[in-house]
Amino acid sequence: MEAESQKCAVCSKKFPTSSKGKKYCSEGCRRIAEFEIRRINRRLERLEDRRADEEMDVLAPVHYNDMLGRSPEERLHTIETQIKAEKTRLAALVNSG
Ligand SMILES: [Zn+2]
Repeated sequence: MEAESQKCAVCSKKFPTSSKGKKYCSEGCRRIAEFEIRRINRRLERLEDRRADEEMDVLAPVHYNDMLGRSPEERLHTIETQIKAEKTRLAALVNSG
């Protein structure tokens, strides 16, 4: 098997792919990744709660804009964009091996 290198999911440093399924260059980066995965999951939970609220607002008979003048549809779109970004980052941390 020839030596290959891959990019660490945390610091982007290249390191040799010796063991299968390894995603991080070091123990330090693995810990950072675990911390970040927990943080992203908490953020996703909050965003998904807010998405549920906004979905209700979109269905409500009267639409209220928020302090930034955004309609419920715009707020929902913003939240969905944020959820997508968090999921993309999560996938990079979890599946990059
Ligand atoms: Zn690293």
